[in-house]
Amino acid sequence: LRRFFVGGNWKMNGNKESLEELMTTLNTSSLHDQTEVVCAAPSIYLDFVRSSLDPRIGVAAQNCYKVAKGAFTGEISPAMIKDCGVDWVILGHSERRHVFGESDELIGQKVAHALESDLGVIACIGEKLEEREAGTTEEVVYAQTQVIAGFLLSEEFWFSFLMEGCCSVPDNVKDWGKVVLAYEPVWAIGTGKTASPEQAQEVHEKLRAWLRANVSDDVADSVRIIYGGSVTGANCRELAAQGDVDGFLVGGASLKPEFVDIINARA
Ligand code: 13P
Repeated sequence: LRRFFVGGNWKMNGNKESLEELMTTLNTSSLHDQTEVVCAAPSIYLDFVRSSLDPRIGVAAQNCYKVAKGAFTGEISPAMIKDCGVDWVILGHSERRHVFGESDELIGQKVAHALESDLGVIACIGEKLEEREAGTTEEVVYAQTQVIAGFLLSEEFWFSFLMEGCCSVPDNVKDWGKVVLAYEPVWAIGTGKTASPEQAQEVHEKLRAWLRANVSDDVADSVRIIYGGSVTGANCRELAAQGDVDGFLVGGASLKPEFVDIINARA
């Protein structure tokens, strides 16, 4: 059985005062003990958040780089995240993809390195509005998942394969137990336009079938597939009732007391 997973993605919001207040609310609320809760804080506050949040609540970074250390001004590594007592990282968020231009390739490399460094990864995928309207949702999310999994053989891979006879097939995810897949349709993020429970269930079901066909039955049955995009206290229960919706990744509402209702959506 898959444990319900609710992530709060605070994005670039809050300050010490407001986050302290939010954490006091979380620390003193009754949270369903069958739900795994993880709050993703801005990197500069990771240490502060880890030391202020109740240990039963996990903490995540919102991004990290693909190597452990070096001359990469402004970046943080999985090793540094671990060093702050933080166990998770969000990778491939649509804002990283579309505001900061991160490629599928880079996201795959980051996933591989974060997992090697023993971080749990919340890996995000999701189609844009024009892709949904063009009927290519499945194609888009399958391709994104495949790059995260690492066995999509990119042009770069084939080039080095042909040039150098390299023969190790990239395989980013050795342990799917450390991966949570977050389906976040871009058109639903921060727009107030939530996917309907049927729309979310349809894509989650297909993603699980993809995992079954391309990875294994075990992985398909055990990987949590969570939904993100305008989740609120008001719409979370109906979404949580769908068989393949194993939790949420919450933006705006994770900064408000209603986050507690979302955590308890299956209680
Ligand atoms: P909203 O909940 O604000 O739509 O954001 C969703 C999201 O991007 C979570 O990662």
